[in-house]
Amino acid sequence: MKPFQYQRAGDVAAAVRVVANNPNAAYLAGGTNLVDLMKLEVQSPEVIVDVRELTSNRIELLDDGAVRIGASVTNTDLGSDPLIRERYPVLSEAVLAGASGQLRNLATVGGNLLQNTRCVYFQDPSTPCNKREPGTGCAALTGFQRQHAILGASEHCIATHPSDMAVAMVALDAVVRVQGLDGQRSIPLVELHRLPGDTPQKNTVLERGDLILSVDLPPVPAARSRYLKVRDRASFAFALCSTAAAVTMRDDVIDDIRLAFGGVAHKPWRAVQAEDALRGERATVDAFTAAVEAELAGARAMPGNQFKIPLLRNLVVSTLAELTGVTLP
Ligand code: SF4
Repeated sequence: MKPFQYQRAGDVAAAVRVVANNPNAAYLAGGTNLVDLMKLEVQSPEVIVDVRELTSNRIELLDDGAVRIGASVTNTDLGSDPLIRERYPVLSEAVLAGASGQLRNLATVGGNLLQNTRCVYFQDPSTPCNKREPGTGCAALTGFQRQHAILGASEHCIATHPSDMAVAMVALDAVVRVQGLDGQRSIPLVELHRLPGDTPQKNTVLERGDLILSVDLPPVPAARSRYLKVRDRASFAFALCSTAAAVTMRDDVIDDIRLAFGGVAHKPWRAVQAEDALRGERATVDAFTAAVEAELAGARAMPGNQFKIPLLRNLVVSTLAELTGVTLP
């Protein structure tokens, strides 16, 4: 690991000024991703600004019924919080499906959203990678593709976003509050992460120095929700694919649905086409299958990840069947 300077800022504005004005500065929260990347010399910031005690570590119920989650809340505290478990079980399940107990004790909500891809080539400086070093190429295009994207990828990068938590939050219409040099602003979480296009080095729409303060979850109408994840090991493994679903039924008709996919794109993937196809429809296996196939019509698989298309289809169908009480054939 290369030498670096460790700093603690007096307040949020001071931290933002340091990082905004120094392209070689980075924020440190739980460190569960950044420190690994520094050890691998994939990232080598000269200055690290510790923000763990600058942003809130509380989960609050707001007057309008929304829930505000501070950026320094740990994954352990979020996953086990009674309010989250009662109102947003899909989020609790997603958080507890990620990483290991030890990592969840350190990892924070803000850091979880901004973690980097676990593409093996991104983490190996001896290989070409447009995300790590723009213009060098993409080793994954002719290499190991098991963890890679089938939706929204480009010829420059086929990496996936690794967060489980973000997939559930996208399905819940979460909004991120950010502090930048010019003050605070809110960004719908579904717009925070980017598709790779020809600039895969940019993971998000954030500007240099922007610091995530909190995530707001709007109140949800009475809905049953679920997060299901398929991975190569029973724990401590990233998703091959996952789905977050929340469904409100009126008799046997789907009154409302929120659906998002993980492990299949450069960002948590909100399945808008599938939602539109199912809203107002009777809950049946045929309807679920047609909806997810409509969403996957634009999927482009590589030889090493073709299995993800039927895997995701079957995962979504079985998740929706469970939530709506439909029996699978
Ligand atoms: Fe790099 Fe993206 Fe290619 Fe992985 S998929 S090697 S992160 S450019």
